[in-house]
Amino acid sequence: MENTLKALNETIWINPSLKKSCSLSHDGRLLTMADVFEAKAFIDKMAPYLSEHFSLADGMLASPLTPISSFQRTLITFIGGRIPGHWYLKGDHALPISGSIKARGGIYTLLRYAEKLAKSHQMTNFFESAAGPASPELTTIYSQHTVVVSSTGNLGLSIGLIGKSIGFNVEVHMSVDAKDWKVERLKALGAQVIQHAGDYSESVKLGRSSASGRPNTYFIDDEDSVDLFLGYSIAGLELQAQLETLERPVDSDHPLFVYLPCGVGGAPSGIAFALKAIFGENVHLFTAEPTHAPCMLLGLSTERWHNISVSELGIDGQTLADGLAVGRSSELASKTLSQVLSGAYTVSDEKLLRMLYLMHEAEGIDLEPSALAGLIGPAKLYYETDGFNYLKTHKLLEVAEQATHVSWATGGIMVPDNVMAQDIKRGQDSSLNTF
Ligand SMILES: *Cc1c(COP(=O)(O)O)cnc(C)c1O
Repeated sequence: MENTLKALNETIWINPSLKKSCSLSHDGRLLTMADVFEAKAFIDKMAPYLSEHFSLADGMLASPLTPISSFQRTLITFIGGRIPGHWYLKGDHALPISGSIKARGGIYTLLRYAEKLAKSHQMTNFFESAAGPASPELTTIYSQHTVVVSSTGNLGLSIGLIGKSIGFNVEVHMSVDAKDWKVERLKALGAQVIQHAGDYSESVKLGRSSASGRPNTYFIDDEDSVDLFLGYSIAGLELQAQLETLERPVDSDHPLFVYLPCGVGGAPSGIAFALKAIFGENVHLFTAEPTHAPCMLLGLSTERWHNISVSELGIDGQTLADGLAVGRSSELASKTLSQVLSGAYTVSDEKLLRMLYLMHEAEGIDLEPSALAGLIGPAKLYYETDGFNYLKTHKLLEVAEQATHVSWATGGIMVPDNVMAQDIKRGQDSSLNTF
């Protein structure tokens, strides 16, 4: 496996220690579905505030689940066969606020922090009305606090947008190769952006040390945040409700496959944790990473988790999929995913761009490169030996036509038109015609 990763060849890894359920403790405390329900109840209580201050319909931060049968047909000529089953796109690329999956973790984490500050100042009006966190007493308090975050781009953008809107000062640490438009957006919001020469893990380290010991400062630790994790996990309940509405059953005759683009692993692990608890053996979860930044696959397959970086294999972390450009996974995410993932695979940047164009043509949906990683998942299962063997072993071939596939689209609508047009053009011009 390590030689395949080193050679930057695409691969799929099947998890030999997949569990029927996930046992997870953090800081000496067991994390369970009760925590996910509590997180959901909290965010539901914030609905009046969210609808008024973030223009969310019904105060709900939710994204559509859209069938992608045209894309499904389009892929046939590229993979040399069809993908059986019912295939959907989970449209977090269109999430309000920041146009990426990071809106989920970001809004939950910052509102929890806002609630904590309100409590510590004996302000009891936090949940009272739409004005709650926006009351003058609270915004004055928030303006004296700084939120620090390290980001490859989208987390910073989310925290910047949400944090500034609540009234916090925001400081974002990014690597120098962060996308220009993300840096510019953040600066325009009034966030302080500090760029570092090293990679993402380096930015996290420097962000953490910059925040440590400073008064009135909260570091949002993408490598170890239970709040981010729980914010993401709520999406599992959302998907469950959407499948019910669509009357797509999930049981042994109707398996559910979910493909999650993975960077440090926070978003996929939160979502996977909830989905495993809800659907057990009938959900099959896979992470998707670029060939140039396969930190989760590497950490899990070597069982070294966060203790190994892709740079140890000489892999450079350079990818168009900036949301996934992470060299080292998070411990909390690795701990979760080592139990609940069916497998992990990698995909080349060239294929991400080609699929970006195909998605644009087939469905009229525009995604950022990272968000395409989940779209090659079904082909990895049906048309790669190790994937196919997984289907065979778990008796999933017999029920292939009744299966539901969900590819998580993690970002897109915030990408400026000129950048999007350029990526579409590059995907169109690509000569890659077999996947
Ligand atoms: C952050 C991000 C991911 C992955 O989330 P992690 O928590 O880093 O694993 C996927 N896609 C996009 C577009 C992202 O911004």
